[in-house]
Parts: sequence; structure tokens; C-alpha cells
Amino acid sequence: MEKTATTNFIREIIDEHLRTNRFHGKVHTRFPPEPNGYLHIGHAKAICLSFGIARDYKGLCNLRMDDTNPEKEEMEYVNAIIEDVRWLGFDWGGRLYYASDYFDKLYGYAVDLIRKGKAYVCDLDADQVRDYRGTLTQPGKDSPNRGRPVEESIDLFERMRKGEFEDGSRTLRAKIDMAHPNIIMRDPVLYRIKREHHHRTGDKWCIYPMYDFAHCLSDSIEHITHSICTLEFENNRPLYDWILDALGAHHPQQIEFARLNLGNTVLSKRKLLQLVREERVSGWDDPRMPTLSGLRRRGYTASSIRGFCDEIGVAKMNSIVDVNVLENSVRGELNRTAPRAMAVLRPLKVVITNYPEGKTEELDAVNNPEDAAMGTRKVPFSRELYIEKDDFREEPPPKFFRLAPGKEVRLRYAYFVKCVEAVKDPKTGEVTEVRCIYDPATRGGDAPDGRKVKATLHWVSAPHAIDAEVRLYDLLFTKRDPEDVPEGADFRANLNPGSLEVLPSCKLEPSLKNAVPGSRYQFERLGYFYLDPAASGAGKKVFNRTVSLKDTWAKVDASKKR
Ligand code: ATP
Ligand code: MG
Repeated sequence: MEKTATTNFIREIIDEHLRTNRFHGKVHTRFPPEPNGYLHIGHAKAICLSFGIARDYKGLCNLRMDDTNPEKEEMEYVNAIIEDVRWLGFDWGGRLYYASDYFDKLYGYAVDLIRKGKAYVCDLDADQVRDYRGTLTQPGKDSPNRGRPVEESIDLFERMRKGEFEDGSRTLRAKIDMAHPNIIMRDPVLYRIKREHHHRTGDKWCIYPMYDFAHCLSDSIEHITHSICTLEFENNRPLYDWILDALGAHHPQQIEFARLNLGNTVLSKRKLLQLVREERVSGWDDPRMPTLSGLRRRGYTASSIRGFCDEIGVAKMNSIVDVNVLENSVRGELNRTAPRAMAVLRPLKVVITNYPEGKTEELDAVNNPEDAAMGTRKVPFSRELYIEKDDFREEPPPKFFRLAPGKEVRLRYAYFVKCVEAVKDPKTGEVTEVRCIYDPATRGGDAPDGRKVKATLHWVSAPHAIDAEVRLYDLLFTKRDPEDVPEGADFRANLNPGSLEVLPSCKLEPSLKNAVPGSRYQFERLGYFYLDPAASGAGKKVFNRTVSLKDTWAKVDASKKR
């Protein structure tokens, strides 16, 4: 796999640690998703970062499910995360861990903290805890149980575990400082009572550690050296330090970086879940979703996503990356690797009146002009063809150089053809067929007399064509910032009603008959397409457009982008 050449502030910190021997020359990172949703392109950035550092420093990177919140977590998500990280091209070398595997150890750590006088059982309920916490400008108030004797807290904590108390009636809290300027440090809750079935530990526990307690200790238990995470955890770092110091536990260095934000996209699992639940998309792997499974079904390659993550780099400042940066990453790769083919998405019949009936010629077509080694293929040409509806106008506007009555164009790899007649549906007036004559001297696409045409059209021979459905995608949100909504509305107000267009009757050149699900093509003039393994089958082919040939967003209504 490609190695990241560029350094960044995280690597500089690690280099410094290696110089000073802070972790005895070790580099051990982890990627710690919470299995409460599918991974998205933002997670890809975190994965590439932590796994990439481990690879480049010849260290290790663990995959850990941070599964401390049973009501939102499911095995489906665990399995999807595993599949997606592997698909992205990373290997955790058998070190797949679960925070829930540490529940016994974490319980022991909590008892230790109580014994050290650094944690206590508090009888306030959630609302009271909040009321006592104070605000940014007001210090909090001590819990009435803050001075509770150690033995009493130990006894109560054990009885919490045994299920003697109601959900939410008691908590275990760290004894830090109720007047601390960082609100997170005001005696944070470490354990809560919650009778909830856990996807791995079943009903063994009715108390669960809070994320902050479990997270830093899981890193410590795994002897992580560098805990790389997003900026919003900067405020939690003092708490992590406090817990680890109080317990005298191994202490990783946490390093925060700016999360990825993508234009016209939401990257919050809660919101993505909402889109799935409300069936605004077909599922987590809908090709419009920014999830890795969605991007995969859209036709993105793992290497293009890794390339994108390298390109955007890491920083300490939050910013928004344009969707076209992501699209360029896959466009560039597919330009080099995807074989070309001809496909007609909105077919219009063309009859070449001076071409012999029943005759077929096999013409040579180039598989990839970027790569001569990909060779050529034969495409059949016959009297009846399909072209795109859009490529014909009965009354062409100025500068319309494609087919129109009396106009001549080139058919790619074939002949010059000139339109002699448009046949219309007498009822609707719609053009249903175009009649042309061809010039046999122009075979291969050039005129011996040197005359020029201004357009080259793609086409498919009608009797040889195979059928397919093609799905075109547009941005899922019309605004660059989907959260930019009128008072009272939410991000769903910016959903793009035209984000999916299904074209059920497309015509493809016959070389695609045996196309393998999961393969990618450039359909000439139309973009890059992926034969969707999930939607195809039983003789039906469904192609998703991964990306158009050019950055078309730049051309659409500017309000779509900004
Ligand atoms: P969400 O806010 O979407 O629910 P999360 O941060 O809660 O995401 P986790 O499963 O906790 O999701 O994330 C696992 C790791 O991925 C964390 O270390 C987190 O910092 C990182 N991560 C999540 N979102 C992004 C993002 N947009 N860009 C970069 N890293 C991210
Ligand atoms: Mg999280």
C-alpha cells in the first residue's frame, strides 16, 4: 500500500517522543469506533491516520469497539465496521478488542478509585446532577454525598452492580472539583445504573461505565502510546489524565486533530441513522450516503478514499472540504484504470437508411486511451442504432453542434452520419426516430476529403444492445452547509429531492454482457459507472454513476454549492 510521504503535526509529536524515548521506541495507535452506526468518510480520515501512522512507524494499530452504550449498539454495526476497515485496506493483526471485554477490569479500577478517596456513590438523579453542576460562569455545588465514607461507597457501588437500585437512582462519580473551570471536571459521572441488554455481555451488567471512564482506561489497558482523536475531545483530556494519574495507570498521549467536514454532506451518525430510519435513503449503503458502504456501492475504490484522506491532510482547525475534492480522487484513478464502453442512457433510435439491412460490421474501439496496454475491443455497427435523446434537436439552438436535420456528426469509431429526417409521434409530436445517411468513406471516423464535423457522438447498435438500469446521483443536500436552515427546521429541510434519478431502459454495447458485478467502466461522455452487486442479479444489470467526467458541481446553480 502507498506510504504517506508528507509529515504533519501528529507525526512531529511522535518523532519527538521517539527522540526522547518517551514510549521506549514504541508506536501503538488504535481506531475506536462506537458500534452505533456505519462508518463514514470522516471515520476513513481517522482510520487512515491511525493505521497509517502504525504502518509508517512499524508500530501497531488496534481496532476497538467502544461499546459502552448498549441501548444504541448492535452486532450489525460491529460487523459492518469490521468489513469497512478491512475494505479500506487496513489490518489490525488479530487485535480486535471490545471495551465491553474490559468491564470487569473497569469495575476493579472504579473500586480502586473509591478506595483512594477519589470517587463516591452519589444519590442524586440525573436532573439533580445537572442542577448541581453549575454553568460556565457559575461554580457547581457539592453533592450531599461527596463526603460519604469510603466503605459506604464501596458497599453501595457493589449493590449497584448487584441490581439493588433503580435505574438512574445512583451514580458513581469522580471526586475532583465542583468549581473547576472545565465543567467536565466537576465530579463527572463514571458509572450509571442501566438495565439494558448488551450485545456482547448480555444481562451480566446493570451498571455501565461512562464513555470517558471506559475510553481512557481501554487505551491504557491496551498500552496505546498515541490516542489520536478529534478536537472535541480536547476538553476531555484533563479528565483522562486525572483518571489515569489517580490510578497510576499507563498513560497514552492523546493528540487531537480537526474532524473532516464535507460540503453538502452530514457526517453525524445520529443524523445518518435518521435518514435511514425515515427511509429518505434506501439504507446505510445507499450510494448517496457518505458512509464507506455507500461510497463502495457508489463505485468508489478504497485506494481513492485513502488518496483523498492523504490529500486533505490533518490540521488543528476545523474546515469544510468540497465534495469535488473527494470526487476528483476517484475520477483521477478511474481515468487511468477503468475500461471505456459505450452506453446510451436515454435512447433515441437512429436508422441509417443507406446502410444494408442485416449487415453488421465489427469496429475497433480503444479500451483506454490512457493505457495502451488495455488494448482494443470490437463493437458491432448496424443499420439501426441508439443515440442519446439529448444529442438530437429538431430545432437546434445556436452552437448546438450535435445531430439535427441536415447536420453531419461523427459516430465514435464508426462513420460520419447526416440526419435526413426526424420521425415524430403524430399524437405527441415527440421525435421517435431519426433517419440518417452514412458516408462509407469515413469508416474509423475521419473523412478522406478532409471535411470536419463538430461533434462525436457515442452510440450502441440496436439489435446487439443489452439492457441495463442506470442510476444517477446528485448531492444529497442542496446547501453546502446542510445545517443552514430557517428557524424551526432542521438539516432535512435541505435534502435534495432530485438526488436520485433512475433510468430503467438504458442500452449498452454488447461487450458488457458478461460484465462482472463490482466492475467499473467509463461510459464515454457520461462518467464512471459501477456495476452494483447489491442491486444487480437475475439477468438484471444496475449501474451506479460513481462520478461524472468533469467537475459538474462547479457549473450548477451556485446556491447548490454555497
Ligand atoms: P458521530 O459524531 O458521527 O457519531 P463519533 O465521533 O461519535 O461520530 P465514533 O464511533 O466515536 O464516532 O468515532 C470513532 C473515531 O472516529 C473517533 O476517534 C472519532 O474522533 C473519529 N471520527 C468521527 N468522525 C470523524 C470525522 N468527521 N473526521 C475525522 N474523524 C472522525
Ligand atoms: Mg463518539
